[in-house]
Amino acid sequence: MARYTGASCRQCRREGMKLFLKGDRCYTDKCALDRRNYAPGQHGQGRKKVSNYGEQLREKQKVKRIYGVLETQFRNLYERAEKMPGKTGANLLSLLERRLDNVVYRMGLAASRKEARQLVTHAHFTLNGKKVDIPSLTVNVGDVIAVKETSKSSAKFKALVENNTRIAPNWLENNLDEMCAKVVSLPTREDIDLEIAEHLIIELYSK
Ligand code: SF4
Repeated sequence: MARYTGASCRQCRREGMKLFLKGDRCYTDKCALDRRNYAPGQHGQGRKKVSNYGEQLREKQKVKRIYGVLETQFRNLYERAEKMPGKTGANLLSLLERRLDNVVYRMGLAASRKEARQLVTHAHFTLNGKKVDIPSLTVNVGDVIAVKETSKSSAKFKALVENNTRIAPNWLENNLDEMCAKVVSLPTREDIDLEIAEHLIIELYSK
């Protein structure tokens, strides 16, 4: 399973905004973007003028980085979104939100999507009572996501529950004490609290 293994903070600096890829560290004064708010590399502080294509590309890269998805998977999701009724951009974001690793993150059971992905891969979760270890899985209405019984008592999950300050979105009926959640509706564009100009991605892929 391919994944990005480079420096997370570099990605935020490249996009010029906090993508919250490192969990708790992102909320402290150790955040690399707070210290060096310019693009990485030799020309990071150089030319700022960006073409239309550059804007579209950056927006796509930003979304991929927020959700931790590589190009092929992202493109496949875009093609799925195109075939769904409604607006492709909103459908694409909804599909990204419905990824199992994102759901775990939204439940407050991981400090970042990257950590959520790792916890899912290590088979700490069940989907509708069955063990699951595929972070890219798309959840549906009625699905119940829970921490595996044997993992519930681990110090890791206890600390995650105690330290969680995030509020789960309305499309999830979240029970943090029981470490489980039910998908009660599909996420709409209004549910997604991220600064994303999805029309730029559509323009890029429509060329
Ligand atoms: Fe991004 Fe978090 Fe690194 Fe700050 S600490 S640059 S928000 S990954």
